[in-house]
Amino acid sequence: MIYLDHGATSWPKAPGVSEAMVRYLEHEAGNPGRGGHRLTVAASRVIEGTREDVATLLGADPERTLFGSGATFWLNTVLNSRLKPGARVVTSALEHNAVMRPLRALAGSRGVEVAVVEGEDPDGLPTAEDFMVRVTESPTTLVVLTHASNVTGAVLPVAEIADAVAPVPVLVDGAQTAGSLPVAFGDLGVAAFVCSGHKGLLGPQGVGVLLLADGFEVEPWMLGGTGSRSESEEMPEHLPDRLEAGTPNGPGIAGLGAACRWLAERGTDAVAERKGALVQRLADELREIDGVTLHGWRDAAPHTGVLSFTVASRDNGELATLLDREHGIMLRAGLHCAPAAHRRIGTFPEGTLRAGIGPFNNDADVNALIDAIRENSQF
Ligand code: PMP
Repeated sequence: MIYLDHGATSWPKAPGVSEAMVRYLEHEAGNPGRGGHRLTVAASRVIEGTREDVATLLGADPERTLFGSGATFWLNTVLNSRLKPGARVVTSALEHNAVMRPLRALAGSRGVEVAVVEGEDPDGLPTAEDFMVRVTESPTTLVVLTHASNVTGAVLPVAEIADAVAPVPVLVDGAQTAGSLPVAFGDLGVAAFVCSGHKGLLGPQGVGVLLLADGFEVEPWMLGGTGSRSESEEMPEHLPDRLEAGTPNGPGIAGLGAACRWLAERGTDAVAERKGALVQRLADELREIDGVTLHGWRDAAPHTGVLSFTVASRDNGELATLLDREHGIMLRAGLHCAPAAHRRIGTFPEGTLRAGIGPFNNDADVNALIDAIRENSQF
């Protein structure tokens, strides 16, 4: 079984993740922050420990590192909080629906103006200049952009863009980069960064992270109990409680902590280098096969390990099913929840086949995919 769908979610998880989750469930699963008995204290220790682990890995302040259900939850939270009636938002043409759907809904319900940076680049990669042009056209409330395309794996120059559009705050969708590339939140110069725990961070599904820069405040999107200030019927003012209503996903957070510790020990740069070498070889060999087209691939450019391609006269979905059934290779076909990106790079509505390399893939996995595509591109 060859798993090459790391753009969707990581598998297998980092060593130690399952054990940390089972340990939590069997020995630590009190309700964190609610009461003072030993199981609640044990649970709080795990949650706060993971907060430190995530913040250390991503170069953030643990006091402004928040846990929620996923990247989608945090993107909705920040967009709903910052985009009030009359707001204008500038975004890239490569966004996932976790950004585009909330933006289109806010355009409908609140009249938010959504300006999409198209840019000149054939692969839709925007420059800092492209963003500056759209931001200076009209007063802008927020810039939101993906750190890397989940369709092509290309990395956007986020720090340069943030610098160019300052003082307009920038929200980064880091779902594809956290854990996949070295990320130093403090050096990006952005207001907020969102990521999933289950992709490059190699943790379980059901946990996502929000990192907030000093001075950038967000209103909660979900209200409820926090275990603190229980006398009040208003949300507490202090973080993390203000943004973390309800019992958190303790087992998930325990697993995420173990994953971040593994990544810190291994080094995100070493993981990125290994994946980069494998995906470069995949690209080099696939493009030599008659009928194969790579989409948005650039040699030697920063990359997350995701590669999109199509095979002439082959239906992407049928080919993905055949790869799974006959070759034991799992990858994803279609639009990858990012129709805007496919429109921009010219692969809408058919989409692409997307291979996503993970830290545990090896040369044999890549060879198997190359051989299977070679075999199935002949007529
Ligand atoms: N943004 C991007 C670029 C993604 O690839 C994904 C996951 N497919 C998300 C946001 C949403 O992440 P999640 O499903 O973990 O909330």
